[in-house]
Amino acid sequence: MKKVFIRTMGCQMNVYDSLRILDILNNLGYEETEAYEDSDLILVNTCHIREKASEKVFSELGRYSKLKEDKPDLIIVVTGCVVQAEGEDFLERAPFVDIALGPQNYHHLPEKLELIGRKLKKQVIEADFPVQTKFDFLPSPGSRTYSSYLAIQEGCDRFCSYCVVPYTRGAEYSRPAKDIIKEAEIMTTSGVKEITLLGQNVNAWHGIGTNGEPWRLEDLINRLADIPNLLRIRFITSYPSDMTSELLNCFTSQKKLMPYLHLPVQSGSDKILRAMNRRYTSSEYLDIIFKLRDLCPEIAISSDFIVGFPGEEDKDFEQTLDLVNKVDFASSFSFKYSPRPGTPGAAMKGQIPEEIKSSRLDVLQSLLQRQQERFNYNCIGKVLPVLLEHEGKKTGQLCGRSPYLQNVNLEADKKLLGEIIPVKITGANLNSLRGEQAI
Ligand code: SF4
Repeated sequence: MKKVFIRTMGCQMNVYDSLRILDILNNLGYEETEAYEDSDLILVNTCHIREKASEKVFSELGRYSKLKEDKPDLIIVVTGCVVQAEGEDFLERAPFVDIALGPQNYHHLPEKLELIGRKLKKQVIEADFPVQTKFDFLPSPGSRTYSSYLAIQEGCDRFCSYCVVPYTRGAEYSRPAKDIIKEAEIMTTSGVKEITLLGQNVNAWHGIGTNGEPWRLEDLINRLADIPNLLRIRFITSYPSDMTSELLNCFTSQKKLMPYLHLPVQSGSDKILRAMNRRYTSSEYLDIIFKLRDLCPEIAISSDFIVGFPGEEDKDFEQTLDLVNKVDFASSFSFKYSPRPGTPGAAMKGQIPEEIKSSRLDVLQSLLQRQQERFNYNCIGKVLPVLLEHEGKKTGQLCGRSPYLQNVNLEADKKLLGEIIPVKITGANLNSLRGEQAI
């Protein structure tokens, strides 16, 4: 078999896309290798969410171009949001790349490989938003590990003023329920026990259900929960205004839905939320959290924060700290604002100096880390059901996930991989728990 090396940058959606691209390549006779030097095809799946993303991609590609000097038949493919953002300029900047495909075009990889393989073209690029969705052309998913992503929604119509997603992934699109159910069923036959439903705005998913009625995300979750071997369901990433009461209720009524919600707030200041074009206020966000805590007291809440958005004053930042203190997050992701070319935020007045952004981020992260540590320490002594996903670095160690998405390490027989077992938590730190198998 020919060998493919895949390098994935960025978010869970890119991880999912890379797996789907591997499904395509498996059908063309490629197997994955972890050593790029041994490969016949190198695929770099790129992300444009961070500052200087393109520069990082071009510098990484430089490494692979050197290999191509020694292996002229090596095919280099680049996919993802950097291709979309750079457009036609991409191949001019990377003349050694054979194929460049935007996030909505990777299903065309087989025909592009044929063009390159038969030397009918020297380079090809495709970075548009086709009328027909790529999902209609992808092969059945190949084998997966015990926990897997499943994209149900893609793109976004919300246009937050700092975000490139609406420009790189296109308009919001919900996959049909029947296709999602079929993909989930195939995954579970290959051993998947936990599925994380993915979307840039996943809780906006909607469609016609298998009963012919309009469905929202909670209906889809309940239908997926009927798949016998599917034991756990999660969804990410949600937008606060799309958190309906029905979806909140699902956390109590549907036992297969894990008690973990990632709900990005970004800022605790209403002035900054308006400037970000986030369409909720801090008190509306808190209402959702408190309602959910009433329904499901054990829920773990996670969030994203941006500090130093243009116009953020000390009092706005203090409102963010105030919100964090009110919620008490189990985990979080926080970043300094970095302007992305082409977004409204990049052209706003009142850009914040780097040193102020850094000092605010330090303060916020130390508060969030204290909350995360406390959440983890509070698990000591409890018995949690843990899905064992893979072997650890130490001999005899297995690693899994708690219902709250914490990493859990323990010593156990590797025959238990793929099982959900009770684990007594004996230790904790910021990023993981330790435990022992409870009988
Ligand atoms: S809702 Fe999320 S994906 Fe959509 S524009 Fe805002 S930040 Fe980007």
